[in-house]
Amino acid sequence: MAELVRTFCPRCGRDSDTKIAVTPENAKYKCPECGSIHYGIPKQRGPHRTCFRCELLFGDNWVPAALADWERIPSDNICTVCEEEIAKMEDTVKRGGVYWRCEDCSTTGTFPPDHSIAIEARKKLGAPAPDKLGLDLNKDNCPVCNKIIMGLDDPTLT
Ligand SMILES: [Zn+2]
Ligand SMILES: [Zn+2]
Ligand SMILES: [Zn+2]
Repeated sequence: MAELVRTFCPRCGRDSDTKIAVTPENAKYKCPECGSIHYGIPKQRGPHRTCFRCELLFGDNWVPAALADWERIPSDNICTVCEEEIAKMEDTVKRGGVYWRCEDCSTTGTFPPDHSIAIEARKKLGAPAPDKLGLDLNKDNCPVCNKIIMGLDDPTLT
């Protein structure tokens, strides 16, 4: 039987209690170009899977590397904290909130139903609750990039 290794949540990075076998999907890779370490196959960026630092295309020249004792690989499932967070976000959106995702920092979140951006976006795009609605933000209007406390300083809709 293959050796089982410790894992982390692929969504938030929290340590997980589950141990799984290393597969080509969750192995550790070192970018052949810049040497960046990736746990699991590099994430999809646009149409391709590329290195997060130098944007080298993932391919046959990427070979799985050995894991150190302390290293963890991404788990197959997200953790219970993330599951709860996702359920909460789904509920917020059903009640009139709006999902958002930042293209620059990859953070995701929701604007609550009574937030001016949620109200404005649903009106502008003709998508009343409980329809799903999501907005793409970037470093110019992302609350995380701009360290905005939600509700005090509204990022502007683009
Ligand atoms: Zn998680
Ligand atoms: Zn690279
Ligand atoms: Zn951001």
